Amino acid sequence: MLKKVFLVICDGLGDRPLRELGGKTPLEAARTPNLDRLASESECGLMYTLGRGLVPGSDTAHLAILGYEREKYYAGRGPIEVAGLGLRLQQGDVALRGNLGTVDEKLTIVDRRAGRIRVVEPLTKSLDGMEIDGVTFIIKPGTAHRAGVIMRGERLSDAIIDADPHKPDLPVRKVTPTDRSTEARRTADVLNKFLARAHEILKTHPYNEERVANGELSANYLLVRGAGQYNVVPNFLERYGLSACCIAGGGLYKGIGAYLGMDVMELPEATGLPDTDVEKKFQAGLGNLQKYDFVFVHVKAADSLGEDGNFEGKRDFIEKVDQAAELLVRLPDEVLLIITGDHSTPCSQKSHSADPIPILFRGFGVRVDDVTSFGERSCSRGNLGVLEGKDIMAQVLNLMGKSPLVGA
Ligand code: ZN
Repeated sequence: MLKKVFLVICDGLGDRPLRELGGKTPLEAARTPNLDRLASESECGLMYTLGRGLVPGSDTAHLAILGYEREKYYAGRGPIEVAGLGLRLQQGDVALRGNLGTVDEKLTIVDRRAGRIRVVEPLTKSLDGMEIDGVTFIIKPGTAHRAGVIMRGERLSDAIIDADPHKPDLPVRKVTPTDRSTEARRTADVLNKFLARAHEILKTHPYNEERVANGELSANYLLVRGAGQYNVVPNFLERYGLSACCIAGGGLYKGIGAYLGMDVMELPEATGLPDTDVEKKFQAGLGNLQKYDFVFVHVKAADSLGEDGNFEGKRDFIEKVDQAAELLVRLPDEVLLIITGDHSTPCSQKSHSADPIPILFRGFGVRVDDVTSFGERSCSRGNLGVLEGKDIMAQVLNLMGKSPLVGA
């Protein structure tokens, strides 16, 4: 009988064949004895996370794999990011994510990340709790240059543009509404007032003066984006009857876990970067199988390396994941192991693509097929065939004997 689920999502895992790798993808070119062994004990297939032809964002991709329809449950990136910072939204709140960046006197962006400032807490603290026209701003520091923003008050809307132009050398954008509602107009006005006041505070903040004295960039502007409104999201336990925990390094992925009501584990070794300790993450996941029914482990770096076009780095990082996967080979039959990605990030394209990703299911009751290596092309010959993200939790519930009977 299956009792537990261990889900590994390797971000941006899929790729396309590269001449430089002898016509193989980074996953195919990597030496992966453990993943191959797991594949040979599994039922394999390919997954179009959002459906054919749709290029998944990491946020919508994860929601799909975890069985949450984006049409209903995706309310922009802001609410997910602030959930990852431990903040809870209330009805009517608007959430945004932001960077502490550097602007010049004309409000033109010098650096969107203020020279990759590492600690922004003294700055966010000076803005936290500010009130403007009946709206309270709750500001919390994220990792490095990042921050989460909640606007709390009446008559707010998330129908506003980003203040962040997303590129340097451009002026910061005045926030404007994207519909004709009075709520959107009011939200844009209040947010513009806040950003102007925040800039006044930040540019003379002692922490920034000290940075400038040390030859560093002043983190003098809060660049906000990804507005989204409070949304009712049924938590994972209510939805599936499975208690769940999330182990991730990147803020977005912790945010996904928190957004769905999973317990989010803090692991200092999980950095979300190529230097992350994958083995520690798997160990922590295995350690949590006693306490939780569903353990979700996220590994980020294959995606970032794909976006850099660094195919050798991506291949090597996959080998690192494989070494850690030695721990997963020892998983007993009663644990359903799923290994997949959230989307492809082809090194040749340096961005997400709609190419499907390999997936494996291993555990009691799965129809083990003839696939003996874990790769984009080998898994296409597996029993699972071609799935979509929304099929994954349905298949999990089916294998666990928890699916409802349709009809009599
Ligand atoms: Zn992703």
